Amino acid sequence: MPVQDYLVTIGLEVHCQLKTASKMFCACPAQYGEQPNALTCPVCLGMPGALPVLNEGAIRMTILAGMMLGCETPPLVKWDRKNYFYPDMPKDYQLSQFDLPLCLGGTVPLYDDAYPKDWQKRIARPGHAIGLTRIHLEEDVAKSTHLAGHTVIDFNRAGTPLMELVSEPEIESAEEAVAYLTSLRQILVYAGVSDADMEKGQMRCDVNISLRPVGQEALGAKIELKNLNSVSAVRRAIHFEIERQADELDRGVRQIQSTRRWDDDRGETTVMRTKEDAHDYRYFPCPDLVPLHTAAMVAEIRPTVPERPHEKRARFVREYGIGDYDAGVLTSDLGLAGYFEEAAKGAAKPKTIANWIINDLLGNLAAAGKSLAENPVAAGGLRELAALADGGKINGGQAKEVLGAMLETGRAPGEIVKERGLEQVSDTGFLDEIVGRVLAENADAVAKIKAGNDKAINALKGQVMKLSQGKANPAVVGELLAAAIAKS
Ligand code: ZN
Ligand code: MN
Repeated sequence: MPVQDYLVTIGLEVHCQLKTASKMFCACPAQYGEQPNALTCPVCLGMPGALPVLNEGAIRMTILAGMMLGCETPPLVKWDRKNYFYPDMPKDYQLSQFDLPLCLGGTVPLYDDAYPKDWQKRIARPGHAIGLTRIHLEEDVAKSTHLAGHTVIDFNRAGTPLMELVSEPEIESAEEAVAYLTSLRQILVYAGVSDADMEKGQMRCDVNISLRPVGQEALGAKIELKNLNSVSAVRRAIHFEIERQADELDRGVRQIQSTRRWDDDRGETTVMRTKEDAHDYRYFPCPDLVPLHTAAMVAEIRPTVPERPHEKRARFVREYGIGDYDAGVLTSDLGLAGYFEEAAKGAAKPKTIANWIINDLLGNLAAAGKSLAENPVAAGGLRELAALADGGKINGGQAKEVLGAMLETGRAPGEIVKERGLEQVSDTGFLDEIVGRVLAENADAVAKIKAGNDKAINALKGQVMKLSQGKANPAVVGELLAAAIAKS
């Protein structure tokens, strides 16, 4: 049967690095790019007898992230040992949280603009939110690099704080999974707890996916896809897995609970292990770490929760009179939202500022291969440019030229206008002469316009603009032409 005859059920487990100064259970710096094994101590090397100490900052960041997502923090939380043989973890247990994690419940809203571009017009469940089961806080493992014949291990990453966010199995397509990750990333960046950049390895994702025929109550066998490290890999892997499982179910091949690996180059998943050799982690409370009462911390953090992306979007619409779509684009990135607000501050028409950013600035930056952080156009300069254009000092074409120069030089628009002599000309004496010349040279066009072909006037307008070297005010030119033709 066609793929549409199967219901797809997806749950995501996301590991996300926190932006703390030090590691989760020791004072070693949580940094990247240092000499291998330079940032280590007996605790994060897993030496026998070394005692872990909780990182309060990481706990506060996780509670804050939970509040952004509508989670509850239990009054008592604790850490547990998750036991397994793991080559990157000499203790052979990971300090994690089992039954009393830092956050329970909550949701990840699927914002419309968080979907992949090619999917935004056909969102199946607009405004939907995916339930979160829990967020717990644990330590990352070391990093192993496999060379020919041997493996080297760098413990700089071992023991850095890692948030694990587990969703309910409520995602129904690859595109919803992308929207979930995009929206989650936005919210964590807004919270200031992580940069959550999958391409930089700051966020990693496991996908649980099962198919069942439409009409069947019980979920199909759960297939886990391990350690996907880009948003596009998540999307492609889910598409592949839906096709693969549907095809096997069609052929009567029973699915068994298993873990699979995604090969990004070959674009396919292959089996790693099945349920028969699933781990039994034998969780037990870590005897080195006392349980933690959270009430006082929760009360302190609650008033510090920043505005969330959808709240900022609604405020932009309300305060600046811009449309939903524009507000969505501007709030999709916290830095961009801040830039817009700074430029719109005290502007007569914030709407034109939004237009300049969305229609011109972002495209120009992208074409130059620059990020917003490398944007040479100061927010105040953009406000000034919009004011010059809105006030009729320069026309649309001139404004684009000025923006181009601002992007190249970072200079103020006023200076560029003066230097290039770009002021728009509305002086009718100067324009009358050009209009007269153009009309005299284009008797055919004038006849057409008189016969009722209104569009023919555009060609004449173009000639006047050209003869004025682009400086004429197009509106004034239109009026002068119409008046002169009516009189002729
Ligand atoms: Zn350490
Ligand atoms: Mn984990």
